[in-house]
Parts: sequence; C-alpha cells; structure tokens
Amino acid sequence: MQTLVLPTYDDVVAAAQRIEGHAHKTPVLTSRTVDRELGAELFFKCENFQRMGAFKFRGAFNALSKFDATQRKHGVVAFSSGNHAQGIALSAQLLGIPATIVMPLDAPAAKVAATREYGATVVTYDRYTEDREAIGRQLAEQQGLTLIPPYDHPDILAGQGTAAKELFEEVGALDTLFVCLGGGGLLSGSALSTRALAPNCKLYGVEPEAGNDGQQSLRSGNIVKIDTPKTIADGAQTQYLGNYTFGIIKRDVDDILTASDAQLVEAMRFFAERMKMVVEPTGCLGFAAAREMASELKGQRVGVIISGGNIDLDNYARLLAR
Ligand SMILES: *Cc1c(COP(=O)(O)O)cnc(C)c1O
Repeated sequence: MQTLVLPTYDDVVAAAQRIEGHAHKTPVLTSRTVDRELGAELFFKCENFQRMGAFKFRGAFNALSKFDATQRKHGVVAFSSGNHAQGIALSAQLLGIPATIVMPLDAPAAKVAATREYGATVVTYDRYTEDREAIGRQLAEQQGLTLIPPYDHPDILAGQGTAAKELFEEVGALDTLFVCLGGGGLLSGSALSTRALAPNCKLYGVEPEAGNDGQQSLRSGNIVKIDTPKTIADGAQTQYLGNYTFGIIKRDVDDILTASDAQLVEAMRFFAERMKMVVEPTGCLGFAAAREMASELKGQRVGVIISGGNIDLDNYARLLAR
C-alpha cells in the first residue's frame, strides 16, 4: 500500500487565504436556553449560513482554486447526494469552470434544483444499485474532467477545516468540540485546526445511528464499509470513511458518537423554535450528541459545528409535525 501524505494545518491556513472574500465568515451563535439546559457554555458555528447553505463551499472553492489552466478549461466532475454538488457547482460558476455533477435519483429536490441553477450539468444514478464513483471516474476519463470527491481529498478536507479555524479564532480554546460526520472531510479538517489551535480540546465526530461505520472504524483501527444507511441525515449517508480522512481521524479524534433520527428531529425543532434557524437533519448531529452527553459537559466551553441548512421545506414541515 502506498503511504499517504496527510495534509497539515498549514494547508488549512492556505485554504483560508484562498477562500477569503469568497466564502462567508459564518456567525458563531449562543443561546441562554441551551446553556441553561446543558449547564455549559455552547458556541454554535453556523455553516447553515454559509454560501449555498453548507460548509461544503469551503472545500469546493479551495479545490477548484488550485486547478491549472488545462483543468479549468476541461472542467470538474463531482458525485454527491447534494451539498458537495452545490458547493462544486457554485464554486465552478464563480471561477468560470464547467461542472458536471453525478447525483442520486432520489436526492432532495431542492438540492438538485439548486445545483442546476448554479449552471452545472446533472447526471443521475440509482444509489442503491449503481456505483457513483465508477460513473464519476468514467466521465472524468471520457471527457478529460478532473474528479473532485466529496471528502477524501487533501484540498477538500483542508478547506472544510477553515470553519473550525474561524471558530477557535473567534471564541478561543474550547473544552469539547462536536462535528457532524459523513465521510469525514469536515471532521478531519476540523481535527487539523483543533490540534493546532486548541490541542487539549476533546474532539468528537457524530454520525447517524443507522450508519455508524465511522465509529466501528475508529474503534477497530480499520476502515469499515457498510450498506447505504437509511436515515433522515442525507448528508451523512456515507458507507465508509476515506483514506485521508480516516488517517487524520484515527490520529486526532477522541471518539465517534451517534445520534438517532428521533434525536435529530428534536434538535431540528429546538433550532427552529428557540434559535429561529432552519438546520437540515445532518446539521443537527453535533448538537444531538452534545445534549445526550450533558452530564459530562457541565461547566465546559463547548463548540458545535452546525454543518448545513439545506432541506426541502415540505420535508422539513413533515419531519417537524407531531
Ligand atoms: C457533507 C455533509 C456532512 C458530512 O461531511 P463529511 O465531510 O462527508 O463528513 C455533514 N453535514 C452536512 C450538511 C453535509 O452537507
């Protein structure tokens, strides 16, 4: 097996410079109600207010900014269930690069529509029977496109790490940080920033209970692959961590926790009712786990990355209705 050169915090710093003036520096919000409920001081890094509605813009813009002239001319191809697609499509539009996006047939309608609106060509596939990576690779070979995967790429994860970098720079060191986990781009990038800026901070990844491949992987020491999990957290329906992301997660992350769909709905309701924020189910993973751990967090300064806010409004209303 070839040895991977893992990205470092320097790559996160370089990414922060590339996205400056293009990505939003998202707000860090607090809530007295939350602090009272948990007996801790919570800081929410709100990537639901990022451009295109999720942190994925950070990694995508960073990766596309590094294209050379030939890559820019031929264009980019990406496969994604939604937010990575939009991140690539918007970044490509801003940088004048043609984009082709491979998306599942059952991707949320709002995400497919937004991807098309950003000027990308959408190619669909059946996520239960077809292999999106193979489709993406084939398009890349046939048309000379550069494939940018959703998480397992040094430029993607370095870009995602800029959110935690901003959080620590704004609020200082934290005792514990909760990060949503799918394929691990956000968590591994956050890990680089955490170990550089708040080395003693406990760092937890949080994934859907229905698909705890990350937890199994961290605890066994090897990447565990699972079937596509059925969960409302559609941004975290990944089947396995990547080689880059797992390399960093294994080294730098304290543990991986899970949240059930019911807990995600409760968190979504809380964000809507108390903080007046629309957060998509996947974006609720971190807070759902923090609430479960409240007894261990007493008196701490706790960070939670809210990863995104893209959800079909009909679906949102249906999930919140009792
Ligand atoms: C992609 C995504 C995640 C998971 O990120 P990974 O880098 O794949 O771990 C979490 N939340 C939202 C909203 C996402 O779009």
